[in-house]
Amino acid sequence: MAHVDQKIEGMYQEVLKRNPGETEFHQAVLEVLESLGPVVSKHPQFLERKIIQRICEPERQIIFRVPWQDDKGEVQINRGFRVEFNSSLGPYKGGLRFHPSVYLGIIKFLGFEQCFKNSLTGLPIGGGKGGADFDPKGKSDDEVMRFCQSFMTELYRHIGEHTDVPAGDIGVGGREIGYMFGQYKRITNRYEPGVLTGKGLTWGGSLVRTEATGYGATFFVNEMLKARKDSFAGKTCLVSGSGNVAIYTIEKIHQLGGKCVACSDSNGIIYDEKGLDLELIKQIKEVERRRISDYAKTHKHAKYIAGGNIWDIPCQVAMPSATQNEINGKDAATLVKNGCIAVGEGANMPTTPEGVKVFLDAKIAYGPGKATNAGGVATSALEMQQNAGRDSWTFEYTEKKLEDIMVNIHRNCFETAEEYGAPGNYVVGANICGFIKIANAMVAHGLV
Ligand code: NDP
Repeated sequence: MAHVDQKIEGMYQEVLKRNPGETEFHQAVLEVLESLGPVVSKHPQFLERKIIQRICEPERQIIFRVPWQDDKGEVQINRGFRVEFNSSLGPYKGGLRFHPSVYLGIIKFLGFEQCFKNSLTGLPIGGGKGGADFDPKGKSDDEVMRFCQSFMTELYRHIGEHTDVPAGDIGVGGREIGYMFGQYKRITNRYEPGVLTGKGLTWGGSLVRTEATGYGATFFVNEMLKARKDSFAGKTCLVSGSGNVAIYTIEKIHQLGGKCVACSDSNGIIYDEKGLDLELIKQIKEVERRRISDYAKTHKHAKYIAGGNIWDIPCQVAMPSATQNEINGKDAATLVKNGCIAVGEGANMPTTPEGVKVFLDAKIAYGPGKATNAGGVATSALEMQQNAGRDSWTFEYTEKKLEDIMVNIHRNCFETAEEYGAPGNYVVGANICGFIKIANAMVAHGLV
């Protein structure tokens, strides 16, 4: 392991041994530990207090059975998770993912990343993540409701405004949050908006929360471009996925003068040379819950490429917004070769370590997910603030707050990277900046 400081290497080996088979979790831990050598040299108390070993061990991990009945009356069983990773900066906060690929290693990688991301927002939130190996695709509304109710029937005892505040992620949007909130209210007999974020606007939700991750990611890339005396104006962009993050990334790119020519889902890609028609994408994905291939049925000039690789399309800005490890070393090399100058990760850990190395070696502007996509959770924290104050802010006011937070995260990552001798390296900047705040809080709280 060439890149991990000698003083830390043993800790990574211990993580491998204690968490066998959880490859995504290993990858997320390694990526952070690689940045921390200079930090422990400067702050030896973090070694003495065993802060890194403690940060790598979740405070609590809950795994539970989720039985439910499908429309045919057949009993189905899924597995639910909530990993409460670190509460040194505030109540655990992080989304719930419903996807068949979910297992403990995915939830732990997401929970681990979440701690540093939440720290970077500057808001009082700890890190956690949860979900289930349930596939909402192809399920009826009633089936999704029954599943969400069963999931919450266990989860409710672990969460709360001051304890743990879940939100959405892949497969969990406004509909699922609504069903879970309803069940929480029914079981506890408490109308407690602060227990979940991503709520509907008429019952405690915040304006801009739906747009926040995509808008925030685009603001972050805009800052990276500004730092290089550049902008989105006239840039050809790719955005993978066509879910919540992808849709609002495309929207903000278009507002800032860029042109998005392709997006995707797990079956294929839509390539529209004229620039994507976002209203049609919203209608297909948000309203009708259909597949992205249907775009080409309305726009005959657009191409649907089944099973294609979106990163083969030439672009100047790429924003992966689907899932983990969707850009490998070869894809990264193709992007760079085709003239890509900026990559902003809307998804969590979408680039493999080989891909990250290609971007860093090429010295393009590369924004890692934990910094770039922090706008979603930051706006969730703004939703919590509004709930606590029984207030609701305007769209403009909330969006301005989101933009300020993203500008701030960018500045902190940029300056931290310079301070630690890695100018322009946002991976180092984000990891160190996120880590130090958590580590200081853990030292202050003593051995807990
Ligand atoms: P959605 O469920 O709304 O959309 C996910 C999109 O990605 C869909 O188009 C989906 O296609 C595609 N996708 C999911 N899994 C895969 C896969 N294994 N292979 C190929 N495509 C896939 O999720 P979000 O938009 O909310 O989340 C996208 C990413 O952003 C995730 O990494 C998430 O962790 C991250 N993120 C989300 C935040 C949020 O606020 N929502 C906050 C911060 C990060 P299909 O329909 O075919 O499955």
